[in-house]
Amino acid sequence: MKVKGLAALKPGGPLESYEFERRSLGMKDVAFKITHAGICHSDIHQVREEWGPALFPMVPGHEIVGMVTEVGSSVSKFKIGDRIGVGVFIDSCRECEPCKKGMQNYCDKGMTGTYNGYERDGKTIAFGGYSTGFVINEDYAVTIPSNLDMAGVAPLLCAGITLYSPIRHFKVGNGSKVAVMGLGGLGHMGVKFAHALGAEVTVLSHSERKREDALRMGADEFFVIKSPEDLKPLRRKFDLILNTVSALIDINPYLGTLKIDGTMVIIGLPDQPYKVGAGALLEGRKSLTGSMIGGMPELQEMLNFAGAHNIVSDVEVISADYANTAYERTVASDVKYRFVIDAETF
Ligand code: NAP
Ligand code: ZN
Ligand code: ZN
Repeated sequence: MKVKGLAALKPGGPLESYEFERRSLGMKDVAFKITHAGICHSDIHQVREEWGPALFPMVPGHEIVGMVTEVGSSVSKFKIGDRIGVGVFIDSCRECEPCKKGMQNYCDKGMTGTYNGYERDGKTIAFGGYSTGFVINEDYAVTIPSNLDMAGVAPLLCAGITLYSPIRHFKVGNGSKVAVMGLGGLGHMGVKFAHALGAEVTVLSHSERKREDALRMGADEFFVIKSPEDLKPLRRKFDLILNTVSALIDINPYLGTLKIDGTMVIIGLPDQPYKVGAGALLEGRKSLTGSMIGGMPELQEMLNFAGAHNIVSDVEVISADYANTAYERTVASDVKYRFVIDAETF
């Protein structure tokens, strides 16, 4: 299948028009016309090689939605015209314990990323969602609830699941006190999901201008944090902190806002390691953990939950020629709250 899209041809980009071939349809494959592709900060980290050497040309994009155009002979989950989504991985070993338990994101042999790597065959470069069409094995695609707007759904495929998964794992519910650090693409989905589950949600941001939006999305409180002093009034307030900040910050003072036995989940992936003082964890038996996207069953569960609660991302739909500017604005924390590319414009 011939498709058009955007690629970074070298580290740092820029993104430019790029045409390439997708594989021909296998028995269990589904082909679809992409309608929208979200821009995740991880796309930017990888184009810029902030996580180490990357593979070029790179077609980023792992928040992909569209309409099925063709199905292989053994496909059972999809038919032509269905709304379909693909997230951060396109395959995994399928045999290890995590894969068997539906935690393909934690596959022992490593999930097959949607881009910036090779497909399961080990030799075809995987190209992501900034493009007009996609081919996917049906086991790694999900169905999109019919009531949700496609542009608003695209970011759920990464930002949505990445917050939903720790929110469920740590049993957020009525009365939980949850803090979300960073109101960007991931953070704003955390606010919506935690609020829908009955939690009391606080946003810890460095951008005063986001206050009203945060409250509208379901946050109960919003604090601008510019220095450790600003966190002092919040001492021992939260059961769970969802840290989605994309840049390296000092997390030690934030740990002071956890209750005894509280947990900070690291979700943001800055280019440098955090420094954590032992005292910040000892003082109140705190836990510091991490979470990476979610598995296939949980991805579908999250979309069904979003459908039932009418939850989508707040998006700015852009055309392909705006993508480089969108990258700059995302890095400057100037995104409301996810850029989504209209795939008609590739
Ligand atoms: P994003 O839209 O750019 O949001 C990040 C937010 O972090 C910003 O909006 C900003 O929020 C805050 N921030 C940025 N720079 C800051 C600074 N210097 N000091 C304090 N706060 C700052 O990014 P995203 O797409 O949500 O992704 C967030 C991070 O999660 C990225 O590192 C990404 O790679 C990572 N990620 C991880 C997973 C996973 O599975 N764990 C999945 C996807 C993405 P305020 O303006 O509110 O402060
Ligand atoms: Zn992502
Ligand atoms: Zn596996």
